[in-house]
Amino acid sequence: MITASSGARITPTASPDWRQLWRDSITDGRELLDLLQLGHLADRLPAADAGFALRVPRGFASRMRPGDAGDPLLLQVLPQLAELVQAAGFVTDAVGDLAAREAQGVLHKYHGRALLIASGSCAINCRYCFRRHFPYGEEMAAAGQWQQALKHVSDDKSINELILSGGDPLALATSKLEELSRGLAELPHVTRLRIHTRLPVVLPERIDAALLEWLHALPLQKVLVLHANHANEFDGSVDAACASLRHAGVTLLNQAVLLRGVNDDAQALTALSERMFAAGVLPYYLHQLDRVQGAAHFEVTDDQALALMEAMRSRLPGYLVPKLVREIQGDPSKRPL
Ligand SMILES: *Cc1c(COP(=O)(O)O)cnc(C)c1O
Ligand code: SF4
Repeated sequence: MITASSGARITPTASPDWRQLWRDSITDGRELLDLLQLGHLADRLPAADAGFALRVPRGFASRMRPGDAGDPLLLQVLPQLAELVQAAGFVTDAVGDLAAREAQGVLHKYHGRALLIASGSCAINCRYCFRRHFPYGEEMAAAGQWQQALKHVSDDKSINELILSGGDPLALATSKLEELSRGLAELPHVTRLRIHTRLPVVLPERIDAALLEWLHALPLQKVLVLHANHANEFDGSVDAACASLRHAGVTLLNQAVLLRGVNDDAQALTALSERMFAAGVLPYYLHQLDRVQGAAHFEVTDDQALALMEAMRSRLPGYLVPKLVREIQGDPSKRPL
């Protein structure tokens, strides 16, 4: 295991504290390339990370293959010169989030479900993410004690599912999540809590005893939608995090983004479904990329995407085939392709 040369020592008996591991993430492109024996590629890094900082936890980086410049995990986090290309149709608010905002940190686009932008932070910065442009500073539902967001949900009795998204909601301290449960107790029409998070995959140490206790005690149905795009993102530490979440009564699903160079072949997508199911996770959505400025080089055409779905259907049981969707501004749901 890689440790920082300075910083807090981890005692051998305790499991590492996730906040410490987060602070110890790699944020320097050269360091990441050196670690992977790819230092000769450092001159291809864009200046100032092309405006979106590199950030990757060391545990996730350790799942990358040394010496492979096309590693599917590396490509998700390494700043590229291609991000500087201004491609037609790729914009800063690709999914209309600013228009759908209804209260501080609340996006209410679909019937029955309100999405709370719980946190502006993530443990990893994914190059294809809309988050590179969204003005999260003012948009966090967890600000104060979730009051504005919960007021909105309390006033709309049609909402039966609350979705914590972000950013990454599990980037919040567990004490902040506990504040939310106190508010939820006053919203009897909300019966499900869903959490959209990449943390169990990129920093599985986040699934610690306190978080599991919080989840276990929540008197709601709990769904956790992970985000993994490639089978190599899973290892024993992710399996263990998933197993403990399931023991806490959480249903586990995964959403992936179809990304050129990362998972745009039938073998990679099939292996992803098989691997996630081995960890107790069912595939949910396979997203066509949001057309976010700086991410055009990741785009896969709809024709290719449909051919990949066909190939997956011919190789996998139906329950391991995700739904291919795209988000269209103004639609009443994600749009199936
Ligand atoms: C994607 C999304 C949801 C969840 O949609 P599901 O199809 O239920 O997964 C809810 N609210 C918003 C604003 C979304 O973008
Ligand atoms: S919101 Fe999800 S996709 Fe975007 S940077 Fe955070 S973890 Fe990555």
